[in-house]
Amino acid sequence: MTLKNEIFKVKITDMSDEGAGIGKTEDGFTWFIKNTVIGDTVEALAMKVKKNYGFGRLVKIIEPSPERVEPFCRIAGRCGGCQLQAMSYEAQFAFKKRKVLNNLSRIGGFDIPEEELEILPADKDKLLRYRNKAQFPIGRNKEGQVTAGFYAGRTHSIISCDDCLLGVPENKCILEYVLSWMKRYKIEPYDEATGKGVMRHLLIRKGFNTGEIMVCPVINSKKLPCEKEFVDGLLKLSMPEGAHIACVSYSSNMENTNVIMGKEAVNIFGRPYIEDVIRREGTNENIRFRISPLSFYQVNPAQMEKLYSRALDYAGLTGKETVWDLYCGTGTISLFLARNAKKAYGVEIIPQAIENARENARINGIENAEFFVGKAEEVLPEWYEKNRDSEGAHPDVIVVDPPRKGCDEQCLETIVRMSPERVVYVSCDSATLARDLRYLCDRGYEIKKATACDMFPMTVHCECVVRLERNGKY
Ligand code: SAH
Repeated sequence: MTLKNEIFKVKITDMSDEGAGIGKTEDGFTWFIKNTVIGDTVEALAMKVKKNYGFGRLVKIIEPSPERVEPFCRIAGRCGGCQLQAMSYEAQFAFKKRKVLNNLSRIGGFDIPEEELEILPADKDKLLRYRNKAQFPIGRNKEGQVTAGFYAGRTHSIISCDDCLLGVPENKCILEYVLSWMKRYKIEPYDEATGKGVMRHLLIRKGFNTGEIMVCPVINSKKLPCEKEFVDGLLKLSMPEGAHIACVSYSSNMENTNVIMGKEAVNIFGRPYIEDVIRREGTNENIRFRISPLSFYQVNPAQMEKLYSRALDYAGLTGKETVWDLYCGTGTISLFLARNAKKAYGVEIIPQAIENARENARINGIENAEFFVGKAEEVLPEWYEKNRDSEGAHPDVIVVDPPRKGCDEQCLETIVRMSPERVVYVSCDSATLARDLRYLCDRGYEIKKATACDMFPMTVHCECVVRLERNGKY
């Protein structure tokens, strides 16, 4: 039996959903040890000891796993971000596939044979620098200096990092500029403890297919101080060829919360959005999208195109269908659906995203898409009650793409009542996916196809898309 603060030796044989290595010592005790890889034999320090399991801190790797690779990042292990970077990409992907299959089985009771879960790994040249969005917290480090970077795992202390290797190279010079502007005009970072100070976060987004860049400080103030100087300096930065700053906005968030963005964004240069183009794989189809600071947009455009193309294939459209796209954001999936169906409806909670979605329909000449602002679990049932006799109440396909917490039961219940032939479920969390699939499969649906798509290389996260069909039993 190992006691707290004792050193012990263990071989890592498994990994938790959050990416901590798991090993068993001879006494039958299970240990969770971060920054280890399956196959490592390690020495660890017992940090917390419970009845049957404990948490250890890695002290020394005695024998490295054959799957271990050199972490690429200087702050590996300290930042909460790239939990899997010490693993080869093949091992990362195998881990994610196992995680999805385990969740489907353990939570949903679906035993899908491994070969039936299709996979869309990331391309080898897109394992780094794949993110089109960065959100840097700004604050003080332990030494009290103003800095930007990332939160250390599960905390609010900032580890300086001006060039996250998952993001675009432009982030570095924009961030350096913002810190120098703060220094020059004596603009203080926000301090959670006192509620004082101005700069909270810096959001940077880039349209990979257009080169358009958005810069959006999130501030604890109604107005951005020294606004003109901020914009003038930004526009003087030299950007790599093909890239340019197209949108500078700020968002006021004066609440003491974990939510990053405020409720509005004020545009102070260029347009209140950036544009990007999304292509459907294997076709000539592409759609131009406007994305404003508060709207959701998938962070990995290369994998996003693979995922959407797969979701569209699963929707099985011929041009005659009526479809719903719930949790539709700026209409990214809805507008591809609309192009290939008779009518598409989209529902989304963020008003600015729906404004974008309506504009996106217009600028692409798409006239058969209609959008509603509100919660899917409220809008859908209300709409269904009022329009029971209409075609929209009996759609052929419903697509859902909810946030990590999955769909609300009210939403699933209405989907079942509307009884579409097919449901296409796009998910960024296989645990809530499994729960929701169980609900649908207990009420007349069957899983026909499933794909795991690696939108987030180096992290434990994985996207999935599942095609369900009505089996007529209900
Ligand atoms: N399908 C879109 C967005 C997916 S992300 C895309 O791929 O770009 C999930 C979206 O659901 C976000 O835009 C979020 O704002 C929205 N959302 C969160 N909770 C919601 C709810 N209860 N009802 C409707 N939309 C919601």
